[in-house]
Amino acid sequence: MALIRDVVIIGGGVMGSATACSLVASGFSGQIVVFERDPVHQYGSTGLSAGGVRHQFGYETNIRFSSYSIRQYEQFGELMEVDGRRPDIEFRQRGYLMLVTEHDLPRLRERMQRQQSLGVEVSFLSPGAILERVPHLDLQGIVGAGFCPRDGYLDPYAVMAAYEAKAKSRGVQYLHEEVVEVLRSGGRAIGVRTAGSREVHAPVIVNAAGPWAGEVGAMAGVEVPVQPFRRQLFSCIVPVELDYPLPMIVDPSGLYFRSETGNRILVGKSDKSAPPGFDFRTDRDYFLDQVWPVLAERMPLFDRLSLDRLWAGLYEINHHDHNAIIGEHPDRKGFYLIGAFSGHGMMQAPAAGKALADLIQYGGYRELDASPYAFERFAAGRLIEEETLF
Ligand SMILES: Cc1cc2nc3c(=O)[nH]c(=O)nc-3n(C[C@H](O)[C@H](O)[C@H](O)COP(=O)(O)OP(=O)(O)OC[C@H]3O[C@@H](n4cnc5c(N)ncnc54)[C@H](O)[C@@H]3O)c2cc1C
Repeated sequence: MALIRDVVIIGGGVMGSATACSLVASGFSGQIVVFERDPVHQYGSTGLSAGGVRHQFGYETNIRFSSYSIRQYEQFGELMEVDGRRPDIEFRQRGYLMLVTEHDLPRLRERMQRQQSLGVEVSFLSPGAILERVPHLDLQGIVGAGFCPRDGYLDPYAVMAAYEAKAKSRGVQYLHEEVVEVLRSGGRAIGVRTAGSREVHAPVIVNAAGPWAGEVGAMAGVEVPVQPFRRQLFSCIVPVELDYPLPMIVDPSGLYFRSETGNRILVGKSDKSAPPGFDFRTDRDYFLDQVWPVLAERMPLFDRLSLDRLWAGLYEINHHDHNAIIGEHPDRKGFYLIGAFSGHGMMQAPAAGKALADLIQYGGYRELDASPYAFERFAAGRLIEEETLF
């Protein structure tokens, strides 16, 4: 016999758990079940993420979503307290340093103006001011940087675990089963069936399957334009422990790096030639040929290092405009998506979860307007214009 619930969430990564948690935090009294097929989160994007969070976007809604999320992260321990225990998400607000060339300077200034008009404390740093913060950089070709001290990085797994713990403490049920079918009736999504043949019926089905969102869309008989793309990260031990922590440094080449614990740094650079696919292979040669030389040029101190660990995860990319999709699918009532974050998921999760929770609970947006992220923008030709950095 089918179980009856009010909301079924497919995927217990940061998006599914933020949605569940936001629903219960705002007093939703219905019964929520989250299906997560991978109890150890080996392949989910959240646990494999670099955890960078920044206000520094060009598109207004992206700036607003990051601002909301960063405010939440600043008080996360308190907000996610369960039985007197406050989670530590290791949020290090060391800023994002967005280095620019002469060519990109006008665009940076324009983006900064928009950020400042929305209350973001971002400022322009001259090369001299950059070197005061990071004296070991080689600034060849760089004319300045955007810097916001409230940006930074955090532990993505800890964020997800905190949401899950809080949601469970308020009665959300987590089941470690794979959803294999989205049940339909009269054009609506009405429930799910799992690999273990369990049926759960609910008027609201949320696709929070990250890189697998396209596949879950197909289970519901609709197109969800999300594809998985491999992205690699490299943890390196550097020869000296710097006496200052590195902010997240973003090079015009797409290289990014930041401090990790001890004398480790975390480095990434998207291989934009990678074809879509569920590919988790690591590629040491990519580091040797495409990443390390750029890193050593920008930070000559790192021309010696030891590659400690490398891993690959999946960006969940919407190929239309590389930005989030949030909302009900126009061709399948009752079937919602929170996905396609294209490398921005950690910085948008608190806001995205809250917005979707409001849409489910009240039938419309309240504190945060996520309507620019609706599916309908594709058919209407209202694509989001945002520079893709990673
Ligand atoms: C290498 C890398 C670096 C990144 N760096 C950053 C960064 O610096 N800053 C930032 O903001 N973002 C970053 N991101 C992006 C961010 O991590 C993601 O946007 C975010 O984690 C997506 O969360 P999610 O919950 O949608 O997906 P996931 O964490 O993948 O969760 C989806 C879950 O759904 C489950 N699932 C799928 N199908 C089913 C099914 N049929 N039944 C049951 N369960 C199912 C999966 O097991 C998975 O656990 C990075 C991502 C990667 C891969």
